[in-house]
Amino acid sequence: MMMNLLQFREVSRMKKYCEECGREVDCKIVSKVESYEVCGENIQVNARVLVCVDCGEEFYNETLDNETLLNVYNEYRRRHKLLSPEEIKQIREQYGLSQRSFAKLLNWGDKTVHRYENGAIQDKAHNSLLLFLREPENMKSYLQNNEIMLDDQQIAKIYEAITRMEDNSETKRSENMMKLMFSQEASIENGFRSFDFEKFCAMIMFFANRGNRLLKVKLMKLLNYSDMIYFKENGISISGIKYIHQPYGPVPQNSDVLLGMMQLKKMIHIDVEFNNGYERHLIIPDSDIPKDILNEKELAVLERIYVRFENFGSGQISDHSHKEKGYQETALGEVIDYSYAKDILLS
Ligand SMILES: [Zn+2]
Repeated sequence: MMMNLLQFREVSRMKKYCEECGREVDCKIVSKVESYEVCGENIQVNARVLVCVDCGEEFYNETLDNETLLNVYNEYRRRHKLLSPEEIKQIREQYGLSQRSFAKLLNWGDKTVHRYENGAIQDKAHNSLLLFLREPENMKSYLQNNEIMLDDQQIAKIYEAITRMEDNSETKRSENMMKLMFSQEASIENGFRSFDFEKFCAMIMFFANRGNRLLKVKLMKLLNYSDMIYFKENGISISGIKYIHQPYGPVPQNSDVLLGMMQLKKMIHIDVEFNNGYERHLIIPDSDIPKDILNEKELAVLERIYVRFENFGSGQISDHSHKEKGYQETALGEVIDYSYAKDILLS
């Protein structure tokens, strides 16, 4: 606990009786190095002490003394890589437990957690157990392999917290992966917008909800035409995705990863049908078009593209995109950048 400014002013304004000066004097706070012994170890810290302004005699002050002790303990913890009281509290709270239930869970004395959270130096074995249990996965195996002195309701609560943490870390992992894969400066390759996963998903949700039986191959073309036409008319793409020259036409970069993520997020699922030896991949919506992600202008372009190709099968729309200049002038695997948007043939 650092002293706040108010306490500081109060302390230094105090009058004290100084034995040396033999009268009431003004006080001030000075800083000096002090030595302490913790568990047989010498620890030096900068301590703030209250002194007589006239002769420098030291006065006892509880607030300052506590502050110094806390610094001493923290220095000891730092040296021995022990968790801080704050960290111990965080570990307990991430499982939604009170100090008492946490102690019970760990088979510790009633007051132990309370003492640690208030600054007492923890036993090293206790510290290791806390470090271990900080990971939700470890907490799970601890619950499974030990006799736990908690009631079922409390145990259920811990499991809930574990699930929540695991979901969060799953989301973080996929977000980090996205950043790695897609974070890029705005350039002609992405239509001067860095990749926007939300908009990309919203475009797909638009087409998946707009009509029935949306084929994956057709979706790729609808996305490409929408981004290109929007770029042609506004100088910026909608999704910021790069399109790659693939055998069946332009395809969003890493589209399978992105569709996989949308399935994890329960936005869509993909049905595979077999027909006369052909596989057909259908994009089935599992949620509505998200609100407030696409603006009116963007939605209007998607609608135009949808209507334009409404009666085209995948084959026809593929043939159509093969005739585009951007496709003809690039090779397999190359980016078809947005400079080709001006040449798009859309009657
Ligand atoms: Zn004095």
